[in-house]
Amino acid sequence: MRLILLGPPGAGKGTQASGIVEKYSIPHISTGDIFRKNIKEGTELGNKAKDYMDKGLLVPDDLVVAIVKDRLTEDDCKEGFLLDGFPRTVAQADALDNELKNLDCKLDRALNIQVEKEELVERITGRRICKDCGATYHIKYNPPKADGICDKCGGELYQRKDDTVDTVTKRIEVYFNQTSPLIDYYTKKNILTNIDGEQSIDDVFEDIVKALGSEK
Ligand code: ADP
Ligand code: AMP
Repeated sequence: MRLILLGPPGAGKGTQASGIVEKYSIPHISTGDIFRKNIKEGTELGNKAKDYMDKGLLVPDDLVVAIVKDRLTEDDCKEGFLLDGFPRTVAQADALDNELKNLDCKLDRALNIQVEKEELVERITGRRICKDCGATYHIKYNPPKADGICDKCGGELYQRKDDTVDTVTKRIEVYFNQTSPLIDYYTKKNILTNIDGEQSIDDVFEDIVKALGSEK
């Protein structure tokens, strides 16, 4: 199954991605995670991406497209994949289309997780992530059992540097200007399904599984 997850920052893409990849046994490809790993390791790619990310801006298309193209040719993507946070511009979506044509395959579905602007800031500023396994929590909506400690692996939880009110406001603006046109883009291709993201995490997942129904 070849899927993409659309939705504004904080909609719950990463949270739902972990359940989807487990259920359907496909790799989770998050461009944000790839950049954060590169920043942590101090690579050239990380250095190039860092300033944009700190400001809440999109990393230039050519950089993002190159890493996704590389990733999609790896063996574990042969039977499918879940793209989370990519594409984010029409140019990225066109590049993805071309690459999938080269690989002789196509997207099965684009899931668009919908959440109103007002809710997004609260979700993102309360987000905490495990530094060891990457599991996502929320201090109010999905708190860990012990403060600051990951339930799954005991790792320490941290707050992303770009999860501040100012940066989040910028990221949401960037989403509505540059990424939301992709809703139309995939509607026209007949593969878009809207998912109500303002339900409990479990109910959102249930709707996603229903939407994927017979896809393989
Ligand atoms: P995205 O990957 O779309 O930016 P995340 O999955 O990281 O979003 O979720 C953002 C924050 O909102 C996290 O702290 C997460 O725990 C929380 N969250 C995710 N889904 C829900 C939900 N359905 N209800 C309440 N909080 C949620
Ligand atoms: P995310 O983890 O998806 O919230 O992304 C964090 C940040 O990484 C974004 O604010 C961008 O700066 C950058 N980023 C991630 N994916 C992309 C993409 N597809 N295109 C451009 N920038 C991206």
